[in-house]
Amino acid sequence: MPGEFDLIREYFEAATGPREDVLLGIGDDCALLRPPPGQILAVTSDTLVSGRHFAPDADPESLGHKALAVNLSDLAAMGARPAWASLCLTLPAADRDWLAAFMRGFAALAGRFDVSLVGGDTTRGPLAISLTLHGLLAPDQALRRDAARPGDALYVTGTLGDAGLALRLRQAGRPVPRVLAQRLDRPEPRVEIGRRLAGYARCAIDISDGLAADLGHVCARSGAGAVLEAARLPLSPPVRAHVAGRGDWGLPLSAGDDYELLFSVPPERQAAFERDSADWEVAVSRIGHIEAGSGVRLRQADGQCVEEIGGGYDHFSE
Ligand code: ADP
Ligand code: MG
Repeated sequence: MPGEFDLIREYFEAATGPREDVLLGIGDDCALLRPPPGQILAVTSDTLVSGRHFAPDADPESLGHKALAVNLSDLAAMGARPAWASLCLTLPAADRDWLAAFMRGFAALAGRFDVSLVGGDTTRGPLAISLTLHGLLAPDQALRRDAARPGDALYVTGTLGDAGLALRLRQAGRPVPRVLAQRLDRPEPRVEIGRRLAGYARCAIDISDGLAADLGHVCARSGAGAVLEAARLPLSPPVRAHVAGRGDWGLPLSAGDDYELLFSVPPERQAAFERDSADWEVAVSRIGHIEAGSGVRLRQADGQCVEEIGGGYDHFSE
């Protein structure tokens, strides 16, 4: 069985490409990194635990992708450019096939966004993956959650509820269409869009817990309320069919794992934003607005308002 240091040499040391700002990478007590002058660091961590965030027999290549994608999504929501990653793995055994596949998924996505793996930790125990990702941005470019103001329009990228539908089908033992499975297993972080938003958006968050809950976080932090227009929520055909068939808005509003960006644009920039974003490769939809007060309301197609939607996934609530 390979030892810890064999694993580090074989699977982590050369996993990702070099970056000029990495003075010292894997192999010493710390990595030494040089942020460019005038830029600040954006730092984010996420943990995926076997049995909680993924099934124990989940495809390791997809896990490698997803562990990085969910962190990239956080950097995107801040408007930061990805740079350095630190990977803490707890593994039940030194399984070479599993590690090789995991790092294939990780490295493919890291290469696309110029992320360098600069350190981490490898221990034995129940399978868990914890990643810390560092990004860079200009100090005045950060898209903070507390910056939404009444009158701002709310936009979201892509479509909502696809990952949630994939999870429900999989858990029910039913076939999962490939496009939906991709949305759950290989989410595409909206890094480019996050960077482009700097000139337009005031505030942004990525949707990991569900639209209602994440918009609730924005409202709480910004000291404001929000209205969502049900008829404007962007839905893929299968999610639209699910909503129409059951009148159940739970998937697009609270299922989570969407990794789309939700952001607010002040009135004076909305026209320019809508013009400029019309040909972006990912569709952007206006879905509501920020208003004075608190909480998130849903206005249905018939004009009726549902008060206080909200509530996504919370690990500690039962
Ligand atoms: P230390 O005992 O000084 O913390 P370790 O023996 O844990 O160092 O790790 C040796 C080197 O390998 C360090 O540079 C560490 O950052 C790196 N490393 C360990 N595990 C990982 C991993 N899963 N991914 C990337 N780098 C790792
Ligand atoms: Mg260590």
